[in-house]
Amino acid sequence: MEIDKCTNEKCLKEFQVHPIGGGVPGGKEKEPIDCPYCGTTVRTEMTSTM
Ligand SMILES: [Zn+2]
Repeated sequence: MEIDKCTNEKCLKEFQVHPIGGGVPGGKEKEPIDCPYCGTTVRTEMTSTM
């Protein structure tokens, strides 16, 4: 479990990030991490599944 912090200066809330694993077998996808409060995309996480 990870804690991320919103980059929106009007928000700046911390929230938990739940990695979504096993969505696409053998695939690589960029998963946008969005703040659940304001919807700002905090970062884009590259996930890889073997
Ligand atoms: Zn936010």
